[in-house]
Amino acid sequence: MSRSEILFNDAQKHIPGGVNSPVRAFKGVGGTPLFFKHAEGAYVIDEDDKRYVDYVGSWGPMILGHSHPEVLDAVRRQLEHGLSYGAPTALETEMADLICSLVPSMDMVRMVSSGTEATMSAIRLARGYTGRDTIIKFEGCYHGHSDSLLVKAGSGALTLGVPSSPGVPAAFATHTLTLPYNDLGAVKAALAEVGQEIACIIVEPVAGNMNCVPPAPGFLEGLRQQCDQHGIVLIFDEVMTGFRVALGGAQAYYKITPDLSTFGKIVGGGMPVGCFGGKRAIMEFIAPLGPVYQAGTLSGNPLAMAAGLATLKLISRPGFHQELGEYTSQLLQGLQERADAAGIPFVTTQVGAMFGLYFSGADDIVTFQDVMASDAERFKRFFHLMLEGGIYLAPSAFEAGFTSIAHGATELQTTLDAAEHAFAQLKQS
Ligand code: PMP
Repeated sequence: MSRSEILFNDAQKHIPGGVNSPVRAFKGVGGTPLFFKHAEGAYVIDEDDKRYVDYVGSWGPMILGHSHPEVLDAVRRQLEHGLSYGAPTALETEMADLICSLVPSMDMVRMVSSGTEATMSAIRLARGYTGRDTIIKFEGCYHGHSDSLLVKAGSGALTLGVPSSPGVPAAFATHTLTLPYNDLGAVKAALAEVGQEIACIIVEPVAGNMNCVPPAPGFLEGLRQQCDQHGIVLIFDEVMTGFRVALGGAQAYYKITPDLSTFGKIVGGGMPVGCFGGKRAIMEFIAPLGPVYQAGTLSGNPLAMAAGLATLKLISRPGFHQELGEYTSQLLQGLQERADAAGIPFVTTQVGAMFGLYFSGADDIVTFQDVMASDAERFKRFFHLMLEGGIYLAPSAFEAGFTSIAHGATELQTTLDAAEHAFAQLKQS
């Protein structure tokens, strides 16, 4: 038995499913999850001392690669001064100022400890600000696991939402409408009926939780226009895209200004951090300035601020995101060439340093149905073949892939060699 197998068996005694977040259990791809003990640059190292080129990057935060010396030093320096005070620090002001300077739609920002908290709080704020209860989200988008967001569409576009998890009261779900992603017509039709009741539209500006689906031309612009028309707060959930697809996030990439934005992952440099913010007039509704309650014992934690600040400063250097995007393009082009050569139907999507891989004969991937029509069984086999070849992809056909600045020519070649072998094997099976 491998160390990971032994550790996974042990883990299941006292941890539900052996993991502290479900996708880590490899349910989507089968087999035993790898247990890691170290990570450096573009690599993660498992408990059996095997090294993998990592395209998960802790699900997004590690845009500089793992264990970046300047980030670790910043945390070490802060460590000397204590772990948490539950009182304001200069670091938090520095963080707020930096976020607001990097993302022009942000006038004010509140730090929290996860993406889930960020979206949950932004939605409460939008409801408090508008005095309306119902929210709109899109099929295939994920915004964390708060009750209002674990809801799927009812049988018709305007029928009440239904919980997507036991434990979410049906009554909560009635306040969430779920519409098809990239379908502006559906949004217009819904708002023509119930526009006056909608507090906010929350959207992943690039959908990264159904693999990677870029917004269709005009979709985000249309959401902006519709929200203006109906007095609805537009929330971009940039937990994944923020500071990744461009320094200013997807809103800079697509040049659309949301009213509120949520961030996580990179903003904490690998520590548990999220934040939400946006227009001053809306943010002033948050306690203690305003009546909408929101709080957190560890919010703005100094170690987390130190890691996040060091990360944001390092990724602000000119050319950083272009370099990342170029690696990602070369990776996808190389994979496509090898899949084509092997005669495997294969499509990729990319926005900056975020990518999607699909075993699909479709011309393009635009809708949730396009994603669901791809061959998830083939992905499973590809995932394990790549793992054998020393490449760690997200263990699910429905998660975006991430590159880091530590990925270079060596990692590119290793990945493409592994893929060439994997595609050949897939062809035979
Ligand atoms: N929003 C988006 C777009 C996400 O991708 C995620 C997590 N992957 C979340 C929110 C929730 O963040 P967290 O897991 O930190 O609660």
